[in-house]
Amino acid sequence: MSDQGPDATYQAALDRGEFRLQRCGDCGGAVFPPRVLCSHCGGASLSWHRAEGLGTVYSCTTVRMQPKGEAPYNVSLIDLDEGVRLMSSVTGIPSDAVRIGQRVRALVEQRGTAGILLFVPVEDKP
Ligand SMILES: [Zn+2]
Repeated sequence: MSDQGPDATYQAALDRGEFRLQRCGDCGGAVFPPRVLCSHCGGASLSWHRAEGLGTVYSCTTVRMQPKGEAPYNVSLIDLDEGVRLMSSVTGIPSDAVRIGQRVRALVEQRGTAGILLFVPVEDKP
């Protein structure tokens, strides 16, 4: 194991194009943001695994304060099926079209050498 902190481990995975979450070996809970101790039970046996990345939009906002010429962007809170809530952005559709309750899937986009976590809409299976 490397001695880098959990935030650096998380970002390093994104930089490789992988969305990873921590899971607690003691209580089984998913942990986000990255931590040293489990946010549910305080246990220290956290391990990294590749996230499924499916979730539901919990809340969404359109940010219009942008430099001239740049499109407004979307800031959403996403509830992952894996049990954590995180802040991200839904892309691939106009920000105004993002709806609370919409199903989304994680997508890692490379910007330079950095991986950025975004979400794209998915069709809900009946
Ligand atoms: Zn735990």
